[in-house]
Amino acid sequence: MARLVRPTGVIILALLAALEGFILIIVGLFLAALAGVLGGLLFAVGGSIGGLFILFGIMNFVVAYGYWNGSGWAWIVGLILAIIGVIRALLSSWTGLISLLTNGLIIYYLTRPHVQRFFGKAPALTPPPPTPSFVPSPPSTPTSQGRTRIRCPKCGSLNEEDAKFCKTCGTKLVP
Ligand SMILES: [Zn+2]
Repeated sequence: MARLVRPTGVIILALLAALEGFILIIVGLFLAALAGVLGGLLFAVGGSIGGLFILFGIMNFVVAYGYWNGSGWAWIVGLILAIIGVIRALLSSWTGLISLLTNGLIIYYLTRPHVQRFFGKAPALTPPPPTPSFVPSPPSTPTSQGRTRIRCPKCGSLNEEDAKFCKTCGTKLVP
């Protein structure tokens, strides 16, 4: 299967996810280092939170990688995260407006046909459905009136002899 062109928005999403992952890991390392300095109970708490940040940071990198490669699971994860973001934004006060807009935009973007195609969530090309129950017949069929009419090679409709296109399906007719 030919590689699809990576949509620009997907590149942006991948870079943003990587950036967020980078920040999360930095913050996580900072918290872990701080916990090490403080020691005691704060060591356990700070260390755990720092570890979680690092874990989320790594997850962001994994998602970024999936976005970049057009992996189907990355599309699903991205969509779920965006939906969670919208719900969280709706539950929060007006400060969640930016989050609401951003995540709404991501949901809108991820469900665009060309983006879904990139993630393998939609067929690459929609081929016209094959015409069923049509028995191939010679292109030209004389009628009872003796006039030659042209049978459409695609849909089988009879057209006037001088017709350039099929009156039913619009296929170009070659007499
Ligand atoms: Zn036709």
